[in-house]
Amino acid sequence: MKRQMEKSEKAFSRAKRVLAGGVNSPVRSYAAVGGIPPVIKKAQGAKIIDIDDNTYIDYVGSYGPLILGHAHEAIVTAINKAARNGTSYGGPTEAETLLAETIVAAFDSIKKVRFTSSGTEAAMTAIRLARAVTGRDKIIKCVGCYHGHSDALLVSAGSGATTLGTPSSPGVTKAATADTLLVPFNDLEAASALFGESPGQIAAILIEPVAGNMGVIPPAQGYLEGLRELCDRNDTLLIFDEVITGFRLCYGGAQKLFGVQPDITVLGKIIGGGLPVGAFGASTDIMNNLAPDGSVYQAGTLSGNPLAMAAGLATLQSLQEKGFYDKLEETSAKLEASLKQAAQEAGIFKKLCFNRVGSMLSCFFTSEKVTDYKTSTSSNINAFTKYFHGMLGEGIYLAPSQFEAMFVSSAHSQSDIDSTTLSAKKAYSAASMLM
Ligand code: PLP
Repeated sequence: MKRQMEKSEKAFSRAKRVLAGGVNSPVRSYAAVGGIPPVIKKAQGAKIIDIDDNTYIDYVGSYGPLILGHAHEAIVTAINKAARNGTSYGGPTEAETLLAETIVAAFDSIKKVRFTSSGTEAAMTAIRLARAVTGRDKIIKCVGCYHGHSDALLVSAGSGATTLGTPSSPGVTKAATADTLLVPFNDLEAASALFGESPGQIAAILIEPVAGNMGVIPPAQGYLEGLRELCDRNDTLLIFDEVITGFRLCYGGAQKLFGVQPDITVLGKIIGGGLPVGAFGASTDIMNNLAPDGSVYQAGTLSGNPLAMAAGLATLQSLQEKGFYDKLEETSAKLEASLKQAAQEAGIFKKLCFNRVGSMLSCFFTSEKVTDYKTSTSSNINAFTKYFHGMLGEGIYLAPSQFEAMFVSSAHSQSDIDSTTLSAKKAYSAASMLM
């Protein structure tokens, strides 16, 4: 399919004159895959439409929040209703309490919540809190996990940082990351060894329980349990960054799915229904250290914003409908099976690695089993890029990076999956030339 891109081309050139790189988040630029991104006009359900009126089946889902698809009626209604009453007050609202109560009811490990405007802020404050509570400075982070772009965590980071070749960004001082210790994902021994090297000094292990920012990587059997034990033995806090996984893998997140309770949970994306949000939550004892009850400072002009709270509440209400996650799993499993079939037919299946956890899916262009950053980055990026453009040309909207997940929503239909499969067969065939 030859897409008309004239309007997007013009609009993107204009954007580049006044926006750094033409975008407000780097991976949107297509810098890693070449070409210019379709400039979006609107979206509905599983479809996204650009300003040249090309329609795409969307598997980006705004990088995770849109588990109900775009412009879901309940969310739009909730936002409209909230907006009519004002968009921000600088004072407490009942909506914040309602959303916090809903989160507390969903997560056994959370008794109190603090909302922020982004996942970055939430992860940044979670480690501040852990350091204050334990009186220790060091934290452990996994290579290739992404926890937002705060300085201490922007080291060996996944997502756009890896995609654009800057997993550790210039401008982040050595001092800012001196206390960030790195281990490979899924390597319990490496984490254990760090405790031997820095006894009594590690405040927290921060981890995405299912990695989503170096492509999708499930935790190995016993890995999360092992981290929990390590933390317990060393009086260290375990922090799960569930910005992606919270409410995506099941109602209650990865911690419920894998039966491992963290001390602090970081949330974002889905809990804001597509509006800017982040949150962290923990036991009452831990959360009481936060200002104003305690002395750990954290604040935000738009934190707990009424529109975001309304969108989040409406989303979480929809997720509680009977059978929601069963249906999502069914659609996601069908997509995985169809993509594998397409890869078989294109004669490329054995050169790919498919990882899926619930509605998060990655197809790595490597024959290695992808279990960590090293294996993820063994992917053939040229082949991925060919596949990506093949899919885009066919009207399938994927993240322009090997290191992001495909997100399935409840709006994806059987006919979307069928179209995606047909397109994938062609795109895999094109990519096979490069493998
Ligand atoms: N943590 C994880 C696991 C994420 O995937 C992201 C963003 O993609 C963040 C934190 C940062 O969230 P935000 O982009 O809202 O700052």
